[in-house]
Amino acid sequence: MTEVIDGKRVAEDVVSKVKALTSELSAKGATKPGLAVVIVGEDPASQVYVASKSRTAKECGFHSLQHTLPADTTEEQLLQIIGDLNADKSIHGILVQLPLPGHIDAGKVIQTIAPEKDVDGFHFINVGKLGTGELETAFVPCTPAGSMLLIERVRGKDLSGLNAVVVGRSNIVGKPMANLLLAANCTVTIAHSRTRDLPALARTADILVAAVGRPEMVKGDWVKPGATVIDVGINRIPAPEKGEGKSRLVGDVAYAEAAKAAGAITPVPGGVGPMTIAMLMANTVASAYLAAGLKRPS
Ligand code: NDP
Repeated sequence: MTEVIDGKRVAEDVVSKVKALTSELSAKGATKPGLAVVIVGEDPASQVYVASKSRTAKECGFHSLQHTLPADTTEEQLLQIIGDLNADKSIHGILVQLPLPGHIDAGKVIQTIAPEKDVDGFHFINVGKLGTGELETAFVPCTPAGSMLLIERVRGKDLSGLNAVVVGRSNIVGKPMANLLLAANCTVTIAHSRTRDLPALARTADILVAAVGRPEMVKGDWVKPGATVIDVGINRIPAPEKGEGKSRLVGDVAYAEAAKAAGAITPVPGGVGPMTIAMLMANTVASAYLAAGLKRPS
């Protein structure tokens, strides 16, 4: 029987734990976790994400702050706001919603966030910590961190010696995912658009992670029998069967055929997606514990 990995349920568990940790922090007399979300411009998808992040932060009992800035905000103005948030002791996590308008250098903005408040894990300091295995103090990007939790739910914490193939090498998903699996003693291969014979490579994977952005690219016969398949992709495709102009979400994995071979698989939606916001909350509460001089919760 193939296990369908219920990301929504695991994300709810993470959020419940964050709520409990927030209460414990208050009981210790420490400042409650504070998350600042900054959005520039009016991209509708970004607005939905940001609203959802702020809502979950409130649900966790956080101090939640949202800066909604007009599209013509200058880079200097944005850097000033980041500087103010860096200095604000009530804020433990700063998230700048990407993409930013073209006239703003996103790299510069991200590197201006204080590494200890970089709950997205994109600052070079956090990237370097993950790359060198300093996981005790690193902030790890939320989507791969959430994917890792799902893998551990299925396979346990000991992934030693398993073959992992990560398809995709972005800084946000593919590379940090590969580093997490390497830190867990997997034998890791990173595949990308220039990889030769990807189906054969994928078939070597005990853990197969797809983070590509191509609808249903990973076919059923790419999956080793019994493998754990983590589908990070979120793709909207036309769904004429639902009516004219309708669409539906699919992942990077051809779910129905892959599920026949896999031992466990994440659905889309309802797999990796819900984990991203939950892990953002987990990173923020961890930051608040560290700021209070307390041990980082595991
Ligand atoms: P990017 O576009 O930054 O990276 C895609 C990667 O896929 C690249 O490394 C690219 O290779 C590789 N690739 C493209 N085509 C092929 C191919 N034919 N064969 C093998 N590899 C290929 O995407 P992201 O990493 O940001 O996102 C990946 C997916 O995950 C997207 O669907 C995105 O929507 C989703 N996502 C989901 C999140 C969630 O919360 N669940 C969060 C973030 C992303 P190359 O480097 O050679 O170009």
